[in-house]
Amino acid sequence: MNRTVALALTALTTTAYAIAPGPALLSVNQAKKVAKSVISADQCRNILTFIASDALLGRDTPSPGLDAAAEFLAYNLRKWGAKPGGDNGSFFQKVTLYRSQLDTNSAVIVGGTTTLRYGSQFVVSRGQGDLNGPAVFIDNEVGTTDVKGKIVFMAESVSLAEDRVAVDKGAVAVIRDQGATGADWTNFARSFNRPVGGFGLTAPNATAQAPRILMESTAFASIKSSPMVRLLVERKTETATTQNVVAIVEGSDPKLKSEYVALGAHLDHIGVRSTGDGDRIFNGADDDGSGTTAILAIAEAALTAKERAKRSLLFVWHFGEEKGLWGSSYFTNNPTVPITSIVAQLNIDMCGRSRMAGDTNPRNATLTDPNSIYVIGTTMMSTRLGELVHKTNADFLKVNYDPRYDDPKDPNRFYYRSDHYNYAQKGIPICFWFDGVHEDYHGVGDEVSKIDFNKIEKTAQTVFVTAVAVANEPVRPPVDKPLRP
Ligand SMILES: [Zn+2]
Repeated sequence: MNRTVALALTALTTTAYAIAPGPALLSVNQAKKVAKSVISADQCRNILTFIASDALLGRDTPSPGLDAAAEFLAYNLRKWGAKPGGDNGSFFQKVTLYRSQLDTNSAVIVGGTTTLRYGSQFVVSRGQGDLNGPAVFIDNEVGTTDVKGKIVFMAESVSLAEDRVAVDKGAVAVIRDQGATGADWTNFARSFNRPVGGFGLTAPNATAQAPRILMESTAFASIKSSPMVRLLVERKTETATTQNVVAIVEGSDPKLKSEYVALGAHLDHIGVRSTGDGDRIFNGADDDGSGTTAILAIAEAALTAKERAKRSLLFVWHFGEEKGLWGSSYFTNNPTVPITSIVAQLNIDMCGRSRMAGDTNPRNATLTDPNSIYVIGTTMMSTRLGELVHKTNADFLKVNYDPRYDDPKDPNRFYYRSDHYNYAQKGIPICFWFDGVHEDYHGVGDEVSKIDFNKIEKTAQTVFVTAVAVANEPVRPPVDKPLRP
C-alpha cells in the first residue's frame, strides 16, 4: 500500500471514531447500581397512577383509553431518547382489527310476496349471502335427502348437529324452527340480538360460512314447504386501529448489537362492565399495569445509564393480551426486527400484588408474599437462560423465586397463558414473572390503592439486571430443550 494513502486512511478512521464513539459497555455490576438509583417504588407509583387511572376506562382493545396509554409510553420513551422500534420511525406498530356488522335489513323472501324481517321473525346465528334457490324441509334427519345447493328448513325436533351435517353435504343455508312464538320469541330474539360481533385480528371471510337462521315458529310454519326461497343476509366489515408500542435501546458491541433481548408486558386490560352497581371500571392496576410500569421503569434505567449492554434491548408493550395474546401474536408474526435476532424474551404479567401476613382469604391463597414471585420458563427450552435468571437474582436482591408453576405440565397452564408463549413458539427462550392469582384478578377491585409498589420496584430492578446479564453473554442462550417437553 502506498504510504500517503495509508496515512490518509488512518486519518479518516481516527476522525470517524472521534465523531461517533460508541457507548461504553454496561456491566452487570454497573447495571445493579443504575437499577437501584433509577428504579424506585415512587417512580412506579407515578407511572401506574396514570396507566390504571379511571380516565383510561380499563384499556380495552381497541379503545381510546388504550391509545392514550400507548401515547403516554411513547411520550416518555421519546423524552428519554429511546430509538423508535415501530412503523415508519415511530414507537407504534399499528394494527388493523376487524369486526362484522349484520345489516338489520336482512330478509327471507318467499315467492316475491312474503317477506320475513330480521328481529321480528328471525335472527342470524352465522354467515351471510344473497341466496336464491330451491328449498327442502327436513323433519327428522338429513339422511339420504339431497341437500346440495339447497336452502334447508329444519324442524325444531331435528337435532342441532344436523345443521352441520346439512352444510357438510352442500346445503347453502339452514333455516331452523326455534320453537318459540309471542313473548317467548321476543325474549329469545332480544337476548340473541347481536348484529355487531366482536373485533378480531383477521378480516372475516365473507363467503366462509353458510348462513344459519333461527326463525319464529309461526313464520317458519308459513314458509317451510316453499319450493324456492331467497335469503338476503348482508354484513359489512368495520375496522379499528390499535397498536403495540415498540422501543429499542441499542447495544454497545458492534456485532452483538444486531441481536436483541426482548422485554415485554401487556398494556391492555378488559375495559368496563356494562351492568352492575358502583364501580364499573376494570383498572387492571396489577393486570398488567404493574408489568407495563416495570418495563417502562426498566426502559428509563437503560436510557439513563451512560453505558450500554452488548446486545440491544427491545421493549414491546402488547395490545389485546386479554383477548387472546393478540399483540404478541401479531408482533411475532410481523416482527419489526428479524425474529431470529431475538435471543430471549422476558415477560412481566402481574408483579404488583402481595399476600400480606394474616390474610386468610382463600382467593389469595396462591398469591405470593412481598418478597416472593413466581418465575416460569427457567426449566424450559434453555438451560443457560434459566441459570442466568437464577444466578442474577441470587447475586442481587435475592427475591424468593417460587418455582411452583415452572413446569409445562402445571395444570394451571400459566406457561401458555401470557404473551411470552408466542415468542416461545418461535423458538425464543423465555422467562415469565407473575405474582399469582388473587381476589381482584379480572375484577373492578384491581386498583392502584392495593398495589405493593416495593414489589414492582424489586421485580423491575431484578429483570433489568437479568436483561443486561443476558445481553452481555458471549454466546446467546442456546435452546437445548423442546418447546413442549
Ligand atoms: Zn395479564
